[in-house]
Amino acid sequence: MTFSNIIGHESNVQQLKIAFQQDRIPSSYLFIGAEGIGKSTLVKTFVEMMNCQTRDNCHSCDSCRMFDNGMHPDFHVIKPDGQGIRIKQIQDLIGHLDLKPTYAEKRVVLVKEAHKMNLESANSFLKILEEPPLDTLIVLLTPDENRLLETINSRCHKVYFSPLTTKEIQMVLDRNYQLDPDIQDFVLCYAQGRVRKRFIEKAVVLANMRIQVLHMLQNLKTEKLYDYSLLLDQWVKQNLQGYFLEFCMSWLRDFVSARQEVVTGLINYDMKDELKAAAHGFSDEKLQWIFGLVVETELAIQSNASKALALESLLVQFKQIFWGAPVV
Ligand SMILES: [Zn+2]
Repeated sequence: MTFSNIIGHESNVQQLKIAFQQDRIPSSYLFIGAEGIGKSTLVKTFVEMMNCQTRDNCHSCDSCRMFDNGMHPDFHVIKPDGQGIRIKQIQDLIGHLDLKPTYAEKRVVLVKEAHKMNLESANSFLKILEEPPLDTLIVLLTPDENRLLETINSRCHKVYFSPLTTKEIQMVLDRNYQLDPDIQDFVLCYAQGRVRKRFIEKAVVLANMRIQVLHMLQNLKTEKLYDYSLLLDQWVKQNLQGYFLEFCMSWLRDFVSARQEVVTGLINYDMKDELKAAAHGFSDEKLQWIFGLVVETELAIQSNASKALALESLLVQFKQIFWGAPVV
């Protein structure tokens, strides 16, 4: 990754470049912004540039290669271990910082989710900020500066990050993923300014699942229930049962709108023709009843009922009572 490849965050990129060019990099930064919007990527790109022999993320010098392989000895990443960032992690870091950098001109400490330091860890970390080691840059990341000790806050140079715009996320998707338009629309909605690979991959799974759930509900009248058992099991194994119920709810809400001939605000607009065709002939009572069933299923799952059985039972009732079809 190079600065020119980073999509969005232009003013922050510019600020870091100027600090580097003018040799005015502070000893510690606090990067503030939502999770998954590219703060870590920017730190890594910045650190790589600072230590590159060509000063331009060449990806071929020894330093760049070490960064690219995730094995640079002078790049220390601290992140929550289980419940939070423990005092032992900070003590180990202090031990490292007592030594000279192995290779880098500028050694870097990146603290992810810095707000997850407990009081003991934070007080210990404060000592590093109070007497920063030479040739060391410290970067803390957090979505909310108010969750850090004021004494830590006040010692860092703050940089604020905004979520990426829809257009910027679209650019990331176009560059890194080849998605069908229906899937892409859902991913853009789900991403909410985040571009971390994990979020995008989850969004793609959910986008495909939404289409499968909606077709399942739509076709239950004629399809056989056991055709769906494997799919339900698979979603439960991936812990996606909550999303299954959400998609059911969204379909039902759209069903209500389609009955009233209101299609502009449909959640599942891509299904408008199917919804309009099916929506007539259903009474308010029947719709209310099926809404209630989805809620009951959610409660049953929360109270430890077998998740796959609860979903199957919901589909049985959808098929039998909602669509008036025999259960097979
Ligand atoms: Zn290089």
